[in-house]
Amino acid sequence: PAARPSNFLRQVIERDLEQGTYARRQWGGTPGDAAHHHHGEADPAKIRTRFPPEPNGYLHVGHAKSICLNFGLALDYGGICHLRFDDTNPEKEEIEYVESIKDAVLWLGYTWDANRTRHLYQASDYFDFMYRAAEYLIEAGHAYVDEQTPEQMRANRGDFGKPGVDSPFRSRSIEENLTRFRAMRDGELADGSAVLRAKIDMASPNINMRDPTIYRIKHAEHHNTGDKWCIYPMYTFAHPIEDALENITHSICTLEFEDQRPFYDWLLERLGEGGLINTPPPRQYEFARLNLTYVITSKRKLKQLVDEKHVSGWDDPRMPTIVGLRRRGYTPQALQLFADRIGVSKADSWIDYSTLEIALRDDLDPKAARAMAVLDPVKLVITNWDELMGAGHLEPCSAPVHPHDAARGRREFMFGRELWIERTDYEDTPPKGFFRLFPGNKVRMKYGYVVECVGATRDASGALTEVQAKLVPDTRSGTPGADAVKVKGNITWVGVADGVKAEVRLYDRLFAVPQPGAGAKDFLEEINPDSLKVVTAYVEPSLGRAQADEKFQFERHGYFVADRKDHVAGEKPVFNRVTGLKDSFGK
Ligand code: ATP
Ligand code: MG
Ligand code: MG
Repeated sequence: PAARPSNFLRQVIERDLEQGTYARRQWGGTPGDAAHHHHGEADPAKIRTRFPPEPNGYLHVGHAKSICLNFGLALDYGGICHLRFDDTNPEKEEIEYVESIKDAVLWLGYTWDANRTRHLYQASDYFDFMYRAAEYLIEAGHAYVDEQTPEQMRANRGDFGKPGVDSPFRSRSIEENLTRFRAMRDGELADGSAVLRAKIDMASPNINMRDPTIYRIKHAEHHNTGDKWCIYPMYTFAHPIEDALENITHSICTLEFEDQRPFYDWLLERLGEGGLINTPPPRQYEFARLNLTYVITSKRKLKQLVDEKHVSGWDDPRMPTIVGLRRRGYTPQALQLFADRIGVSKADSWIDYSTLEIALRDDLDPKAARAMAVLDPVKLVITNWDELMGAGHLEPCSAPVHPHDAARGRREFMFGRELWIERTDYEDTPPKGFFRLFPGNKVRMKYGYVVECVGATRDASGALTEVQAKLVPDTRSGTPGADAVKVKGNITWVGVADGVKAEVRLYDRLFAVPQPGAGAKDFLEEINPDSLKVVTAYVEPSLGRAQADEKFQFERHGYFVADRKDHVAGEKPVFNRVTGLKDSFGK
């Protein structure tokens, strides 16, 4: 734990561990599968946290923060983090999302089943218990079936500063409530005709405590329980119960649930009194959700981007989804580093996108192999090559795979009469401070020879078609006396003879403004029109052998990854730009 900076959550956990808050939980009789320990027995896990996604979409960078936080705390404090699907809503959830969420957690470097003792947790596994808990609340006088219309219910709930009005159904007898609730369960009532409500306080200043709905009727099939149920628990009722049944100790969620905490505590206190759950119950703690500039983190809006084809899919490398970030070239370590650096706080704020990119560069810099690539190629012809070296001669050159790690060996490539260079590396008349190719100037072809530019050819439209230079003999890098000729420019290049043609996808931020959709415009109107540019590049031979998902630093250009989907090693090289070498967006 010492490796990470402290924060309010770590302090709470450390205090609970010190005081032994959960060391000897009292067993309340929870159903076998969910109960990890019995009366007075210590839980082998010192703390239990959980990550409870609703399987209604792909996870995004905000979820990554929550995953790193919850799984990270469990790892640091000898605990266990549960992956739990909050699948209490029968209509919106799909198996495809369940699978993608499992993949995302594993990819981020965590597992929910380290000891192979327990599979996934699913909220819907607790529907029987939740029903029993609801009947218990009715029997104890804490819940009633309300048959007001939804409109009446809304009107009677009151408002901020205006107390609500008791429902005429609030004083029903326990027997009548039980009968009506069972009628709800047995499918005798139509959707929307009745709900079960907790009986708390219609005058509470916290509107969430004004007799919140805990069960509603929905004649809908559920992907796990099929047509067994036609009533489903509300999230606010289900969630505390899920936490309690799994013996969660610290239930960490985002700030918007702060107003729900009193109900969370109210409910678990009642169920504890009834001996239905272990005590002390879990406690809820809130932290500020991640807001990242230039990025959308609403599942609904992300789905809209996919459905309306503004991007190629959930895993488009411009998407902030975990599958998108992964395809873009982000690493699990970079996302963990990012999560550690931003920490947790109690106040909402915006994190600058560059924080994410810096974490990525810090992770990739020591790892990524270097390579040369020419993204906007034009030919450089060495006019005296044949005369000096012999026609068709190719001169082997090499460079370190990584500049700070000689053990990783060297990459080899050929210098010859024709080389690919960047179009922008030549000027007829050099602007001030331009040290690259212009007639009369000498430059070093990196890891190769010094050449002196002699001229260039343009087509009828004025576009550059070829640059010419003369080789300066005896200047090959790494040979004695090579540095005798002093030059200011160092040019990256790829040999025409051994260079490999590659598709390179130059990605930029998907949105042109820091807070898309925050102003008067719809977020879709703020899409960056230049977020993708596809170019045909030439890359050094080592890149022709790259494996899908392998990351590189293209010298001068930034970090690139061989596309997970479209790159075929040795056949069809496709690289995605992950990020530039330094923060340059908008500059
Ligand atoms: P969305 O609003 O995008 O639909 P959600 O919160 O409804 O997201 P869930 O599947 O319920 O999605 O989220 C699972 C967990 O991830 C929750 O505990 C939630 O608090 C957390 N989470 C979601 N978005 C963020 C975010 N931007 N920053 C931090 N945590 C988040
Ligand atoms: Mg949610
Ligand atoms: Mg949401």
